[in-house]
Amino acid sequence: MFTQLYLDLPPFLSASGHVSLPGSKSISNRVLLLAALSEGQTWVHDLLDSDDTQVMLDALTQLGCDLQRKGSSVGITGIGGVLNNPSEMTLFLGNAGTAMRPLCAALSLLGANVTLTGVARMYERPIKDLVEALQQIGAKIDYLKDEGFPPLKLQPSKIDIQSAIEVRGDVSSQFLTALLLALPLVSHEADIQIKVVGELISKPYIEITLNLLAQFGVHVTRDEWRTFTIPKGSKYTSPQEIHVESDASSASYFIAAGALSKGHGTLRISGLGEHSIQGDIRFIEAARLMGAQITTGPNYLDIHASPKPLNGIDLDCNHIPDAAMTLVMMALFAKGETVLRNIGSWRVKETDRISAMVNECKKLGAQVQEGEDWIRIQPMSADQWRGASIHTYDDHRMAMCFSLAAFNPSGKTVRIEDPKCVAKTFPNYFETLFDLVQTPPDVIPVICIDGPTASGKGTLASEIAKTLGFHYLDSGALYRLSALVATDQGIELDMSNESQIVDLVSKLSLRFEGTLIFADGQEISQKIRSEEVGMNASKVSAMPRLRAALIDLQRSFRRLPGLVADGRDMASVIFPTSRLKIYLTADALTRAKRRHKQLISMGIPANIDSLYADLKARDERDMSRAVAPLKPATDALLLDNSDLSISQSVEWVLNKWQSKNDA
Ligand code: C5P
Repeated sequence: MFTQLYLDLPPFLSASGHVSLPGSKSISNRVLLLAALSEGQTWVHDLLDSDDTQVMLDALTQLGCDLQRKGSSVGITGIGGVLNNPSEMTLFLGNAGTAMRPLCAALSLLGANVTLTGVARMYERPIKDLVEALQQIGAKIDYLKDEGFPPLKLQPSKIDIQSAIEVRGDVSSQFLTALLLALPLVSHEADIQIKVVGELISKPYIEITLNLLAQFGVHVTRDEWRTFTIPKGSKYTSPQEIHVESDASSASYFIAAGALSKGHGTLRISGLGEHSIQGDIRFIEAARLMGAQITTGPNYLDIHASPKPLNGIDLDCNHIPDAAMTLVMMALFAKGETVLRNIGSWRVKETDRISAMVNECKKLGAQVQEGEDWIRIQPMSADQWRGASIHTYDDHRMAMCFSLAAFNPSGKTVRIEDPKCVAKTFPNYFETLFDLVQTPPDVIPVICIDGPTASGKGTLASEIAKTLGFHYLDSGALYRLSALVATDQGIELDMSNESQIVDLVSKLSLRFEGTLIFADGQEISQKIRSEEVGMNASKVSAMPRLRAALIDLQRSFRRLPGLVADGRDMASVIFPTSRLKIYLTADALTRAKRRHKQLISMGIPANIDSLYADLKARDERDMSRAVAPLKPATDALLLDNSDLSISQSVEWVLNKWQSKNDA
């Protein structure tokens, strides 16, 4: 109903632990094709799982490659440069340019009789320069729709290479990559030269192609960025195993988090080493210049927390345009000013990143200046930091960069607007970060929503949690599951059996996955929802030792970025220092009707009169019990929602939350 408009980040102290980042897309699809063109089996580890890699895998299967899967690894038995399946076929390539271009080149050289299709958007993505380059050497390729665009029909033809093949380099570097990946297939008789026409763009991506070719035994030489030579007799040789590196630009946020950590921990990023073939790996050099303590191994980076502050730097960042944004955030924490130069390309990315960076840093209280292609950042003293709401301009990198402002030493909350924009490259960015960040539990915000049964606490609390991106604790579920396991064991829910019940519950292995609850491996989420279990929960919840035994478990739900907890004693006992306490109620008949509707919708038979009677009995027992009786905490805000819709109640609570934070 409500979407997440912002994410509030409480102050972070340090970041340590172990993280594996998503694999690089560019590397994944290149490696898949190379493995498919090689002889024998290649195990590709840490392959990116995305739409684009899936269409490539499907296409390779159709072409006759055998695929085996083990976790995030795929074993590909290649076709060894000969089409096993010469029959006519159609390959659907979605919107994956990294599949369409190289497959077009490789399949036309292999003499395939194949139609290459994709989604509508694919038919707007140019391929003419590549097709013309291939036609120069005899490939037979026809456009099935618009001239210059997929879908394409490839037919067998005689390939005859007499002179250098020309290809434009200024539209997409993928055309050159496609030729480089495919031409070794026809290099039996002579060296093959490719000449780039126009200024070659995106050179780091060509470096990735050359590097991967070398790992598969093909050593291309180049003369500047103009002429590339594939030696006569080149042949793909499978390295047998190959790891897809984690995305180096995404790694920069975690390198910075490790470097901004106070304390002594180490943050390990696995899946990426210092000798990465991605251009943005050179962010490490810049981070080291600032004083970051980084050690590396073949497939990991370790970032060590240091007691010393970072230093300011003056650096030309032309070679790391994306990752350099992260340096701005590090500069806010450094000693001495930082100037980043030659970053004019920032102005034509997802947004004008120079001015976006300047605007948002200023909101935090920083002194930042910009020029046409540079940015100057003055470090901030602890008392300079302000809490701020950061606009992210639908730019994933703005959101990820500014999450680092939560390391501010003055304990200010940083709000990230439209946090979901990280999905462009890293959908789980914040969850991944929170798993690594340490912060004192008492600074993690908690909203408590207590109240009688069927008051709508659960619905309200889970909606608020979704809107704020917070975790959710349904504490009633813990008493319900305690009652369920006790009755399943045939134990009477009587005070005299309290020790036995506490013992039983303490030994349970509980797992919470979203709305699902598992006890000793069994999914019990639905089973605990019956009225009978609810009544029984009310009985066991009067047992003081059971309540005490469940305290730590409930408190363990207080994790970044925050918690919404619903129950009876959230505000009074479990989280007495929480920032916002709501006592939610509604008249008994309204509650009985709501419960009736809820049960019927779950397919559970119910009767309003008996529900009403049960509900009053439960209220009575919950209010009169000796331990943690149901009553509003002294500092709770009362909300009677008898006449309010769910969205009205949500809005009421969100307004209260906002004013608490503004205060
Ligand atoms: O909220 P729900 O109906 O799921 O709770 C089931 C029972 O568990 C309640 O009737 C109440 O007796 C008990 N309970 C409690 N303290 C809580 C949550 C629930 O005593 N924090």
